[in-house]
Amino acid sequence: MNDQPTATVKVEIPRPKRGEGQWELGYREPLNKNEQSKKDDNPLNVRGRILGTYSKKGFDSIDPADLRGRFRWMGLYTQRAPGFDGGKTATLEEEELDDRFFMMRVRTDGAILDAEKLRALGEVSQAYARGTADITDRNNIQYHWIEVESVPAIWERLEGAGLSTIEACGDSPRPFLGSPVAGIAKDEIIDGTSALEEIKRRAINNPDFSNFPRKFKTALTGHPSHDVAPEVNDVAFVGTVHPELGPGFDVWVGGGLSTNPHLAAKLGVWIPLAEVPDVWEGVAGIFRDYGYRRLRSRARLKFLVADWGVDKFREVLEVKYLKRELVSLASPEVPEHQGDHIGVHEQKDGKFFIGAAPIVGRVNGDMLVALGDLVAKYGALGARLTAYQKLVVLGVEAKDTDAFAADLEAIGLTSAPSNWRRRTMACTGIEYCKLAIVETKQRATDLIAELEKRFPELDTPISINLNGCPNACARTQVADIGLKGQLVLDEDGNQVEGYQVHLGGGLGLGANFSRKLRAHKVTSKGLDDYVTKIVENFLAEREPAES
Ligand code: SF4
Repeated sequence: MNDQPTATVKVEIPRPKRGEGQWELGYREPLNKNEQSKKDDNPLNVRGRILGTYSKKGFDSIDPADLRGRFRWMGLYTQRAPGFDGGKTATLEEEELDDRFFMMRVRTDGAILDAEKLRALGEVSQAYARGTADITDRNNIQYHWIEVESVPAIWERLEGAGLSTIEACGDSPRPFLGSPVAGIAKDEIIDGTSALEEIKRRAINNPDFSNFPRKFKTALTGHPSHDVAPEVNDVAFVGTVHPELGPGFDVWVGGGLSTNPHLAAKLGVWIPLAEVPDVWEGVAGIFRDYGYRRLRSRARLKFLVADWGVDKFREVLEVKYLKRELVSLASPEVPEHQGDHIGVHEQKDGKFFIGAAPIVGRVNGDMLVALGDLVAKYGALGARLTAYQKLVVLGVEAKDTDAFAADLEAIGLTSAPSNWRRRTMACTGIEYCKLAIVETKQRATDLIAELEKRFPELDTPISINLNGCPNACARTQVADIGLKGQLVLDEDGNQVEGYQVHLGGGLGLGANFSRKLRAHKVTSKGLDDYVTKIVENFLAEREPAES
């Protein structure tokens, strides 16, 4: 596999006085109900019960431990029951908000969605999801209104087209982010497609990786624009060039957002394409074996990396998991802005790719079927989803780019969006998410429309990320303007939907988390004027080239 010298350092990991539930240190007894549930039955087994029992006998036949736990390994969550406003939600347990319908996530893992896949995704939406479909910022298509009785037919249709919902949620290898222009872009450093496919083959539906302490997010890009938000993934592979060995990947570990955000630590190594899957298995193995399982709030890789430090993490990876040393290399330069690939761009083969924007990721069944038809009509390669709730159509002939872009516009996807449409993301929010406190998708859509009127031209990119709760599914802390849903007081002292404001976050060069401005809370109603004021002040007082 490689000719690197075998590492011989002995790694000492003392058993802490108070156990964190780390398997490798002997803490095997489940220390919370999630761990108990996973021990009681491997969550991957729930697929058999969905096919054999629950889809035939209906919602009421579902074992609660499957419904609120193991279903996630099949990409299924109960969605929020209608009728609860944010105020009531605050006093209810998550279980009390269960609807009899499900949200379903389909993973795409950076793969190209050809005409057949796009039509399958659209037809499932039309037939079983009341037309709903959202592009998430993790390369998923997310449906709503799914009934358990429909799941076998949905899986048959999706799997027939080469798509899957397995481990799209749960304490598992969550959907992988891949560069939307892998193997396509003229300026890419290295095409990581084969590595991502191999990681997928080894990891998904594999019992060895189906019980992590919590979720495990992977990103891989060989594009210099770092187009997969690598700083905020549990493990990321980022293209780099060794002066003698050529193109390969650096490895970044322990990034993540939510209530305790961490930027990933950079190992500063060079690994060849063929060894990326081994290193993925090593990092995933460390998380499985040494990750903290006692408290769910500490059960992400970022806490282990923060406690160990990057040198110890690398040493354990080399000595215990890879059994060889990695080649050291300074981490690659970071781009000023991460690529979203919007617009029309020439490919390395002379054809073109077109990056297009729906509004806050919201598409629908008709749009996906129509996109599949366009891909077929023009003989294009297909589309990939981006880490920004957008998509990129690949392999368009030069002579067809204008016509294709016009046809995209006609189905609701624009390749020339305003700053606001291009750089605003919103999570699922109170419409369907049980953890949400406020509405997000529609609120963001209205905000975009208003800002397009008030600031039709903008010479500096400004990003806005709206989240419905303190979690950070739409990456609140790494936007110029991050809005975290919570209840706030209006001018009459009533509790109403609103947002805690965070300002000045970003990824890429100078990546940092936005600052929470304590006094800055805004009601949902007052949001348009609040953002307007921020933008006006920025435009009036900025230094040259200031973001
Ligand atoms: Fe739900 Fe909160 Fe995530 Fe939004 S950020 S999708 S409200 S959990």
